[in-house]
Order: sequence, then C-alpha cells, then structure tokens
Amino acid sequence: MVKLSPEHRAAIVAHARQGLPNEACGLLAGEVQGDEKVIKKVYCLNNLDQSPEHFSMAPEEQFKAVADLRKNGLVLLGNFHSHPASPARPSEEDLRLAFDPTLSYVIISLQTGEPVLKSFLIRKGAVSEEVVQV
Ligand SMILES: [Zn+2]
Repeated sequence: MVKLSPEHRAAIVAHARQGLPNEACGLLAGEVQGDEKVIKKVYCLNNLDQSPEHFSMAPEEQFKAVADLRKNGLVLLGNFHSHPASPARPSEEDLRLAFDPTLSYVIISLQTGEPVLKSFLIRKGAVSEEVVQV
C-alpha cells in the first residue's frame, strides 16, 4: 500500500496541470513501514522531452532530489508522471522503461475533468496495481 497525504496528492495534481499539454514527472520519497510505503516528500521535476506522450527526467535534477532525500533520511519509493489525455495505466513505453521492480510507478491521468491517480508495480513487463491511501 502507498500512503499519500492530501497535500502531496494536490502537489502532484498541480504539477501535472502546470505541465499541460505535456506530461509532467517527478520522484517520490519516504519511508517503508512494514508493507506500507509512506510518501514524505514529492519532487516535481522537469520533463526534458516536453511531450504530451513521453517524459524523461533531467539527470541533474534526479541527482539533486536523491541527495536531498538521503540527507533527510528518506528512501526513493517511486516516481510519478502524468497522462494528459490517456487513462491512468502504464503505456507500452512505461512498461519498457520500468527497470526497478521495487519502485512504485504512479500515474496521474487528466483525461477527464477529475484527476485519477493510481500506483503500479512493474516486474518484467507484468503490472500489478497498488492500493493508494490518501
Ligand atoms: Zn506513461
């Protein structure tokens, strides 16, 4: 299970909306408590691709975020990106690029008026959805 505060969810939604019409992306850091991943910090990063269908995170921004989360005693729990015009499920490309089975891949869809946020674990192209508790 992924635990996300309403403030962190709002930060992800705001970043996704600011990025429109392109995809927005970022990293999620926090603590593992038993089988729960508790998100403590959201890092909003730039989408270098500036594309509505792809994203790539700027490496130097990723390094900065990872240095910051370590400094704060947190671990990298996952990442997020938006789907401006498609549902909240991993695309073929998302599956292909998902290299770490321990990370949560959060997707926020803005396809309809109401943002839909889901989290996935991806192991060798096999997807399982995680429960997100806000
Ligand atoms: Zn995607």
